[in-house]
Amino acid sequence: MKEEKKAPAFLKNKLVKNLICLVLILTVAGITGWEFYRFRTYREEIKAPDGTEIQHLSDYLPSLKGTAGDTEIYVFRGEQDGGSMLVMGGTHADELAGHLSAIIMVENLKVTRGTVYVIPRANNSGFTNNFPQEASPMYIEIPTANGTRTVVYGSRATNPVDQWPDPDLYTHYPSGQGLSGAETRNLNRSYPGRENGNFTERVACAIRNFINTNAIDLTIDLHEASPEYPNINSSVLHERAMKLSGDASLELDDLGISMRMEVSPVNLHGLTHRELGDYTNTLALLMETANPCQGRIRGATNAELALMGKDPCYVKASELGYLYIPYDENGVAVEERCGRHLQAIQVYAEALGWVFGDEYTIEMTGLPQYNDLISASVGDWLK
Ligand SMILES: [Zn+2]
Repeated sequence: MKEEKKAPAFLKNKLVKNLICLVLILTVAGITGWEFYRFRTYREEIKAPDGTEIQHLSDYLPSLKGTAGDTEIYVFRGEQDGGSMLVMGGTHADELAGHLSAIIMVENLKVTRGTVYVIPRANNSGFTNNFPQEASPMYIEIPTANGTRTVVYGSRATNPVDQWPDPDLYTHYPSGQGLSGAETRNLNRSYPGRENGNFTERVACAIRNFINTNAIDLTIDLHEASPEYPNINSSVLHERAMKLSGDASLELDDLGISMRMEVSPVNLHGLTHRELGDYTNTLALLMETANPCQGRIRGATNAELALMGKDPCYVKASELGYLYIPYDENGVAVEERCGRHLQAIQVYAEALGWVFGDEYTIEMTGLPQYNDLISASVGDWLK
């Protein structure tokens, strides 16, 4: 007969068992709580050159002061007068190439004519949490000549700590358009925003106020999307930016970069390319690159996928003709994605002068060209 295993005597005591459970629960809660707290309070470094002028969104909407919605606006003024441009990364904090391109701009840009403003973390609150159930990495480590740089990989939406609960139905102000409740925390569904609105609407309102106060000629919002999304490798633009975008796309084509143009639907509300074009005088557009990390058919979602953009499921999808970009086993590395964004920004800045006249010219140096990036590493452009 098989001998029955007996539990150790101390486990027969109910109090001891309960205490062990309590200790285990507190240990798990402590470890995960610490991770959440660290992510919420972590500040990634952006190494702007000494003397760089830094403004804040709260300068344009004081109620953001002291909240996670406040964020830096880096200002680069040329000695000569010219046009003005705003570049935003981090509207969606899980779209690495947009965020990283803005950081590369802040760390390398020199403007000789006109003024360029860069906001690397447009929805700063999105950098304090991850999107639930996406299993995204929290931090991306990038080797540089001066050691490893850590970049935050955040969420598409405002942290619920800053804005909660979500309604069942999000009613966009002022259009009355109805959207899914979770979109109420999406900065790119919250424009033009309102001064006394919810947290995300106030961030949108501050950006609109900033554009109006500084009479920004051109606003470029940097994004990424999944390889199966039709609008990738494209500019989505307000109709007033059509001529500018047409000229810029032709120039990019000459440089070997295909950039599709999509005109913003008049009845799709809340987005930069619609509302900033309607509620300010800026020429508004949004650019998308392809990031398999955001796709529905991806495999493991980790820092390597965010950086290298290689996923065998997407190779298969490409072979079956389901994608809107060329895609093979080489993937779409972050160098290619940042290269597209940064090259297009430089071409758009130049095109302002061609299209609207000499007084709108922006002249800048210091940024990598597309070919510089794809033949090197993004880390080579981080200080
Ligand atoms: Zn996006």
